[in-house]
Amino acid sequence: MAQGRNDSDLSDYRDKRNFSSTDEPDGSSARSGSDKPIFVIQEHDATNLHYDFRLEIDGTLKSWSVPKGPSTDPRVRRLAIQTEDHPLDYADFEGMIPEGEYGGGAALVWDTGPFDNLREEKSDDGTGMAEAWDEGKIEVRLHGEKLHGGYAIIRTGAKSEGKWLLIKMQDDDADARRNPVSTEPESVKSGKTIEEIEEESNDD
Ligand code: MN
Repeated sequence: MAQGRNDSDLSDYRDKRNFSSTDEPDGSSARSGSDKPIFVIQEHDATNLHYDFRLEIDGTLKSWSVPKGPSTDPRVRRLAIQTEDHPLDYADFEGMIPEGEYGGGAALVWDTGPFDNLREEKSDDGTGMAEAWDEGKIEVRLHGEKLHGGYAIIRTGAKSEGKWLLIKMQDDDADARRNPVSTEPESVKSGKTIEEIEEESNDD
């Protein structure tokens, strides 16, 4: 699963898909919209429910699978397993992923919005996103509908293992009492739940 030698390589993504049998984008169209890079978190009901956390870096979506989803509590460290780069237009994808293709199951846009690179803003740091990703030390400020403020994504162990931690940074948006993964399950794109997307596909 882990791969990091090529910083913008969609070949793994395309190799895993048959684009005649999936509604997922093939990465051929560019994203339009704001100038700021975006993040997206897709809830994905595959064999094991998880949250795919993606950050736009150098024209691609760097991706992690977060089994428990993000927390708003700075004391909580969430395992984030690096997965293959996805094309930018995947950020809008919501619907059914065919069986046999990357876990299958329903996916929805759980949260999305622009982000800022906190390391680049610091005068004594200034590190760009691509370098931060390479170093395994990312600090971003999310401007989502559910998630706000600083999040750190920190690689642990060897680069080849692809194991990272997703941690809420201590700031005004930190809140140990919130738990949006359970209290705000709906898509920010359609308002649907995972169950509703699955039911609609059964009606087809
Ligand atoms: Mn997934």
